[in-house]
Amino acid sequence: ERLVGPVADHEDQAVEAALRPKDLGEFIGQEKVREQLDLVLRAARARGATADHVLLSGAPGLGKTTLSMIIAAEMEAPIRITSGPAIQHAGDLAAILSSLQEGEVLFLDEIHRMSRPAEEMLYMAMEDFRVDVIVGKGPGATAIPLELPPFTLVGATTRAGLLPPPLRDRFGFTAHMEFYEPAELERVVHRSASLLDVEIDTDGAAEIAGRSRGTPRIANRLLRRVRDYAQVKADGRITRDIAAAALAVYEVDARGLDRLDRSVLEALLKLFGGGPVGLSTLAVAVGEERETVEEVAEPFLVREGLLARTPRGRVATPAAWAHLGLAPPRSQTP
Ligand code: ATP
Repeated sequence: ERLVGPVADHEDQAVEAALRPKDLGEFIGQEKVREQLDLVLRAARARGATADHVLLSGAPGLGKTTLSMIIAAEMEAPIRITSGPAIQHAGDLAAILSSLQEGEVLFLDEIHRMSRPAEEMLYMAMEDFRVDVIVGKGPGATAIPLELPPFTLVGATTRAGLLPPPLRDRFGFTAHMEFYEPAELERVVHRSASLLDVEIDTDGAAEIAGRSRGTPRIANRLLRRVRDYAQVKADGRITRDIAAAALAVYEVDARGLDRLDRSVLEALLKLFGGGPVGLSTLAVAVGEERETVEEVAEPFLVREGLLARTPRGRVATPAAWAHLGLAPPRSQTP
């Protein structure tokens, strides 16, 4: 479990409900998405209709579940939450769909991980509010058509490109959620601190925001760890020094890199002169699995412009040398 991992852990799940913005006005950042969604929902409300199906794409922890709940709240509709991996058989989906109320929001997280038969059933449900329930097996099987009440599907995926085009095309509106700017995360931290009754100053919030990897979930998690530190080591108030000292204990550096990220970067710089070096060699050097380096550490390092994946192998950028306070070899100095 990484402190800077984007996926919810047990503690996140327990506390996130209390920190979720309840309406679009409270939702911080994602200006374009908010503006567009506001129009879609207002128009549907004015027509007295159910809102169009919405696809939310973006990395974990950026607020897709939160937005789906906001959609339901704005439409004054109930919400049902499930996920692609939980729907293995078309029958599972049929059971959910047939029990929806009129106007209900169905939030389907990780929609790209649904089974094929369920996916095909979903096409028809989204388009015609109808499913064919297959009864029996083999030549004697019959399809019983079942009418569904109109509902709004909110699908979430880490990448819209993973979805088969027929599914993607059935959404009336697609929102791409971006990583948050530090100033936006600062607002998230202030908002959460006030809900948690924690005293924090502007610099303290900025320090946490800068280490949160563009992700509100991580910002909230770091805030909780810094709060612990402030309580135990100081008077409970979070300042820049307290935040920096607390996160040093957890080995989350000023840019949000943790121990794993730094060990990959350090190996690349110190053992391989900044590369290029093959992924497998790099993984052996840091004592990690190839997949861990490739899927857990690298995406953020690439995003931060610290590491580049090239056909000849992994290469450190000048920013990587600067971040670790090392001088690049002479051949690499401009
Ligand atoms: P996953 O895909 O892992 O389920 P997610 O994208 O659905 O993640 P959420 O669960 O919606 O992410 O958000 C994680 C936490 O971050 C929530 O507790 C929420 O309070 C906070 N959060 C997310 N977006 C915002 C925002 N725009 N403003 C304030 N808080 C936010």
